[in-house]
Formats: sequence, structure tokens, C-alpha cells
Amino acid sequence: MNNLPSAITLCEVGLRDGLQNEKTLLPTEKKVELLRGLIDAGFKVIEVGSFMHPKAVPQMADTDEVYKALGEVPGVELRALIPNLRGVKRAVDCGCKKVKLNVSASRQHNLKNLNMTPEQSVAGFADCVKEAQANGIAISGSISMPFASPWEGRIPLSDIESIIEAYLKVGIDEISLSDTSGMGVPNQVYEMCARVREKYPQASWWLHFHNTRGLAIANILAAMEAGMTQFDGSFGGLGGCPFVPNAAGNISTEDVINMCDEMGIETGVDIVKVMELSRTMRDLLGHDLDSYILRAGRAKDLIVS
Ligand code: ZN
Repeated sequence: MNNLPSAITLCEVGLRDGLQNEKTLLPTEKKVELLRGLIDAGFKVIEVGSFMHPKAVPQMADTDEVYKALGEVPGVELRALIPNLRGVKRAVDCGCKKVKLNVSASRQHNLKNLNMTPEQSVAGFADCVKEAQANGIAISGSISMPFASPWEGRIPLSDIESIIEAYLKVGIDEISLSDTSGMGVPNQVYEMCARVREKYPQASWWLHFHNTRGLAIANILAAMEAGMTQFDGSFGGLGGCPFVPNAAGNISTEDVINMCDEMGIETGVDIVKVMELSRTMRDLLGHDLDSYILRAGRAKDLIVS
């Protein structure tokens, strides 16, 4: 295969994207313990939680407490999802140094819920950028459903470029393409990734795939071939999407690490430690998780020597 990277960076998002879709509320101490385990496994980027309204997302109500309990961890970026300026203020108060905003690429979804176009939503993030910069907090943005949405189907690439340009205009140049609806397909992912990398070389890109139709790992490979090297994953494949019926969780992080380990692509993360954490999470939640490697084990563990 051509053009595969020799190393990639994984962001573990299970404690945010995964847990926010679970009925079980994990105690703060458990979250901190799991976070310490993820750091020990080698993750250099972790999405810790979100600063949404506690009534809207009760599973994330203690994110501030989690940050305070964990303290600063040198060399590890601990990011949180935020909805608005209030989120930046909570980040300042609890010592969080990296926040991520989100907008939906679906015009219909955005107009219906917020009465704004996605570009207007992003323009409204200018005050968040100002507040974050004034407090030494790094800020990134994500675009959910950039490939397709349940309301309008495939999203034209020109629409995505227009949202990317709105982000760049407010000073956000780290951008995640987040296939929360799990509707992206590899050739489309390849084309979009190659195109945006070439057109906006100043930006740093993340890819975030839900495995709703089993295509997340193929989409990651397609994105790698287009030169992308930063991917989100969720240990155990935890998660879903509140807006899309029957949406599955993120691609399981250990499934991605397994592919990379077998293909000689460095992730810096110890798969055995991640599998242990996924087992712990499975026991805490009391149900099976959506991870091939957790079910089947690694191929190399089967080989009798
Ligand atoms: Zn997600």
C-alpha cells in the first residue's frame, strides 16, 4: 500500500463520547482511575469529558471535578468538549488547558435546533476563542456529520469547505471531521481528506469515526492513505450519538491499535493495557462492548509457539 504513515496519534474519547451515551453514572474517582490507566497505557491526547449543561448530559456533570482531581499531567493533552463561552469559563476554573467546540455540518439540523447556519454558529465562537486565548487555553473545533447526515444525505464538499473557512476565520485551525452518524464511506473520506489537506495546509486535522455500519476502520485506512495521522477512538468501542437513531459507538481504540501494530504503524499505546481497561469498563457498565479485539483477542495471542 502507498502513502501510509509510519506513526499516528490516537485520542482516547471513551470517557466523553462513550460515557455520555451510557445510563450508568460512573463516580468521579472511577473516572480518574480510568484516566490514570489510559495515561499509563501511553495516550498523549485524551478527551476527558465535556462542559455541557449538567441537566442535558448528567454523565459529564463532574468533568470539572475530574480535572481538579487529576491535576496537570506533563506531556499529555487533556481536552474537553464545550458548547459555548460558559464552557471556556468552566475550563479556566478547573485547570483544563484544551477545549473543543462543535458544529453540525447539517444545515437542516443546525437551522432546526439553533436557527442558524453552521457558518453563523462558527462565527459565534469568536468570543470563545478570545476568552480561551486570554487564559492560555488551546481551542479546536469539530464538524459533525461532514460526510452525510440523516436529513440531507451526502453533504457537498463545498459546504464543508465553507464551514472550515468559518473556523479558520475565527482563529481555530485544529479541526476534527466527526462522522457521528457513521455514514461516511472510504472513497469519500479519502477525497475529502486529500482535498482539505491540500487546500488548507495551515490546519491540523483529526478524524473521528463511529462504527455504525462497520466502515470506521476502512475509513481510517482511507484517511491515512490521504495523509491523515490523528484519529479518535473509544476504548471498548463505547458510545453512540444522541441525534441519530441506532448510531453505534466510536471505533474501538484497541481495534485501531491492533491494525496499526500488525501493519507496523506506531501508535505509542500499549494494546494489552487498553484491553484491560476495556474489560474493567465492561464490568463497570454491566454489558458487552463493541470491540472485535476484546471479543476475539489478538491474532498473535492465538498462535501456539
Ligand atoms: Zn462521536
